[in-house]
Amino acid sequence: MGALSARDLLLVWERGERRRPAERAQVLLAAACPELPDDALTALPLGRREARLFDLYRETFGTGLDLATPCPRCGATLEISLGIDDLGLGGGDAAPEAVEIEDGGLRLRLRPLAGGDLAAAADCADAEAARRLLAGRAVLEAARGGEVVDPSELSEAEIDVVSRALAGLDPQAEILLDLDCPGCGHQWQSLLDAADCLWHEIDAAARRLLREVHLLARSYGWREADILAMSAVRRRRYLEILAG
Ligand SMILES: [Zn+2]
Repeated sequence: MGALSARDLLLVWERGERRRPAERAQVLLAAACPELPDDALTALPLGRREARLFDLYRETFGTGLDLATPCPRCGATLEISLGIDDLGLGGGDAAPEAVEIEDGGLRLRLRPLAGGDLAAAADCADAEAARRLLAGRAVLEAARGGEVVDPSELSEAEIDVVSRALAGLDPQAEILLDLDCPGCGHQWQSLLDAADCLWHEIDAAARRLLREVHLLARSYGWREADILAMSAVRRRRYLEILAG
């Protein structure tokens, strides 16, 4: 996979623009993995999804991530710059398999969560319902004291066991950043979401491109496809000439 061309970037933006975050992440993943059919995209474990999305980010926008997030205690905006290569996303292609675990009298066979699970959970009424749904989907088989249990009927404590096991099975599924506020000293962890980071850049780049096409088409009468096929350097130079 290489960088998104100007034309492809606009196509991805158009497909993702009015989607909910979970669906948009799947649109971005399809762009990052053009070789995979839809069902394989839906089933790709989240850790591998994050790695593939950050691969596309790196190819298209470079390795630098600039984030701004509010401090939950004092509200000051924290500006963070980091490199994708520092996130430790190596080994993104080693897919975790389904595993069996035992905890007290509980025996579970579970698989890592994938994007299709998050898309299903997006319809849940609240976070608690989503957590229960995700646990139910991840658990392939469950038995309590030798008796088979329906995965949708696990207790709260058993869902905690599932959550911990999932974090161990696919540690890259959730990339947590350790943050501390220079203003008030508060320390917390923030989730770094590859699809959010990628979408933020694609949205800004698409709006920039549309403006460039608008100015060049209006001034020269060129077709949109021809303008998008030009290199960014050439488009910029024409715009400089127009600006005098
Ligand atoms: Zn603060």
